[in-house]
Amino acid sequence: MQCTRNSIQKQRIGSALMQMDHPTAAEVYERVRRDVPQISLGTVYRNLGTMADEGSILRLSFAGKPDRFDPNTGEHYHVVCSQCGRIFDTDYCREPELLRRLDRAVELSTGVQVQQRFLSFSGICAQCAQGVRDTERASDAQRIPGAEHNTECALHDSGARRSHNARRATDGQ
Ligand SMILES: [Zn+2]
Ligand SMILES: [Zn+2]
Repeated sequence: MQCTRNSIQKQRIGSALMQMDHPTAAEVYERVRRDVPQISLGTVYRNLGTMADEGSILRLSFAGKPDRFDPNTGEHYHVVCSQCGRIFDTDYCREPELLRRLDRAVELSTGVQVQQRFLSFSGICAQCAQGVRDTERASDAQRIPGAEHNTECALHDSGARRSHNARRATDGQ
């Protein structure tokens, strides 16, 4: 019986994780608690830890921040916004030559043959950058319209904002 209850809890935790965007254990707990009010935070932590150890989900560690969990176990890397804390997937695995060059650079400088990569990035997301730009624009009425964007910047921004919005759209309750 105990075993059955445990596997149901694990299943609920797994399916909550599938619907969320790189959540913390506490966020998963809040979600699962709606359906399983008697579940404890400890149970959620333990199950996420076990699933990560088994390799069925990813545990993402960022210095000074609580671990995040990701049901996508395929090779991909993450970038965290240092302002709002949002985490984005990057698709650098679509550029295998870039990654092989990085591996070669690591091998040349250390003599270690790379078998696995754990890469993460941080920066300011498009939405937070837009907030900063809006503030700057409001305080600078003299600025020539459009002059603040060069082409490269505008291209980069529109791509980043698109993925941000797409993510927001799938983020609903
Ligand atoms: Zn941000
Ligand atoms: Zn991810």
